[in-house]
Amino acid sequence: MSHPHPELKRPPRLPRKGLRVVALGGLGEVGRNMTVFEHDGKLLIVDCGVLFPEEHQPGVDVILPDFEWIRDRLDDVVAVVLTHGHEDHIGGVPYLLRERADIPLVGSRLTLALIKEKLKEHRIQPVLVEVKEGETRSYAPFDLEFVAVNHSIPDALAVAIRTFAGMVLHTGDFKMDQFPLDRRITDLRAFARLGEEGVDLFLTDSTNAEVPGFTTSERELLPAIEQVFRTAPRRVIVSSFASHVHRIQQVLDAAHAHGRKVAFVGRSMVRNMGVAQDLGYLTVPPGLIVPLDQLEKLPPHKAALVCTGSQGEPLAALSRMASREHKIRIGEGDTILMASSVIPGNENAISNVINGLTRWGANVVHKGNAKVHVSGHASAGELVYCYNVVQPRNVMPVHGEYRHLRANADLAISTGMDPANVVLAEDGVVVDLVDGKASVVGKVRCGNVYVDAQTVGGVTEATLKDRRTLAEEGVVTVLAIVDADTGELADPPDFLVRGFEHAPDAFDPAVKVIERTLARAAAEGIGDSQQLEQMLGRDIGRWSHKTFRRSPLIIPLVIDA
Ligand SMILES: [Zn+2]
Repeated sequence: MSHPHPELKRPPRLPRKGLRVVALGGLGEVGRNMTVFEHDGKLLIVDCGVLFPEEHQPGVDVILPDFEWIRDRLDDVVAVVLTHGHEDHIGGVPYLLRERADIPLVGSRLTLALIKEKLKEHRIQPVLVEVKEGETRSYAPFDLEFVAVNHSIPDALAVAIRTFAGMVLHTGDFKMDQFPLDRRITDLRAFARLGEEGVDLFLTDSTNAEVPGFTTSERELLPAIEQVFRTAPRRVIVSSFASHVHRIQQVLDAAHAHGRKVAFVGRSMVRNMGVAQDLGYLTVPPGLIVPLDQLEKLPPHKAALVCTGSQGEPLAALSRMASREHKIRIGEGDTILMASSVIPGNENAISNVINGLTRWGANVVHKGNAKVHVSGHASAGELVYCYNVVQPRNVMPVHGEYRHLRANADLAISTGMDPANVVLAEDGVVVDLVDGKASVVGKVRCGNVYVDAQTVGGVTEATLKDRRTLAEEGVVTVLAIVDADTGELADPPDFLVRGFEHAPDAFDPAVKVIERTLARAAAEGIGDSQQLEQMLGRDIGRWSHKTFRRSPLIIPLVIDA
């Protein structure tokens, strides 16, 4: 197996007729998927998503792929193929188009409708190219063919990319539900045909590679959803991803069958379901959907709500209901149906929401106590099928944490693939396909780009470290007025302390530290206030750690008297 060695260097020049593959996100993490293909001086991008922050990244809205590697080559980008409409595949597009607005976006009808709505909010008019499964498009030197795949959002596509270096098949996210609600199954016949022609590099979804067996059908959720709607004594409140059209279809059908009206709650839910209904992906019985204020006038056993927040996101409707910050007041007898997965890293947030809702008297039905969720990704059994059908020359697992990529690689090898033709890569690792052989040849810089309310990329790892320190260790501002002639304190220093509430005078003894530091500075002839601040910060920090075993953020301010 070809591993990304930790000390990889910059890659050599791409050989003529070679194909270079660099993931700028999505490899080594679940989210912000983005893969760049380079061939004959041109670039093709597949997906451009976002990653949602975890608890140790306070104040961050989303995390983007790092565009640094392609930033001076944006004019060489021939197109962005969007495999499907999930945030971790399209959420980064507005930020990419801010850098070059006229890159063609190629995708299916639903995918393009969702990205168009999103771009409207960013006031960007995109160039959209709608494609269907079975169609081909050429963006020289890349010839594209699109293949239907089944996933937890309708209208997902895999893409075959033909170049002089060989053919790549990228599955996007997929699974192999044999009985999907829309009857649109993963087109294994096309996979087989492409395999016959010869797939030189197969990029496959690794998310569920560790899960044995087969992902069960979306339809198998119906009994549990039905039961909720049949037995709930008062309101039913369903949370789901705002893009899970088929899950919400099943919820709407159950509500309708049991005589309930439904209101959508949450901006993205209202927007996406509107798009899905307009385009015919969601079938809504007449009169079923009502505005929220109308729903509130109905008896509780006639009402259902569908809202966002299934991952415990603090600003989404469900969390705000749990913490009583939403106008919908949860009460005794309400039933909450959390019809969704738990994305790794969100376990605590989700558990808090369940506890909050339960405390108000609600009955919470979730994947831990009922069969109300199936995954959107192929399990090990399905992946093995694909390897056997496609019989690729080289394999590069994509989409997942490193352990998922590794598990997927092992599956490929278990079907008889030569381990030498299985390439494990992470974000920024450069894989070249030359003369039919794929191998790791280097690494380009690829970090996390944080977006917060004000900036894109303005928040750095150092900022986050400061924010964590502030939250966990407190902050101490030290105001020292220093006599410029003697270098000594002109007045006793002021300490403004936050996070040490149990001992407001905790820092008073640090006056001695300041005096010593100033004396040392004077002896060394240091009078510059910026340098003094650095020395004070270091010494007070060291004293604080020794005295309290805590390391608050120290902000020294030196003023010349
Ligand atoms: Zn997806």
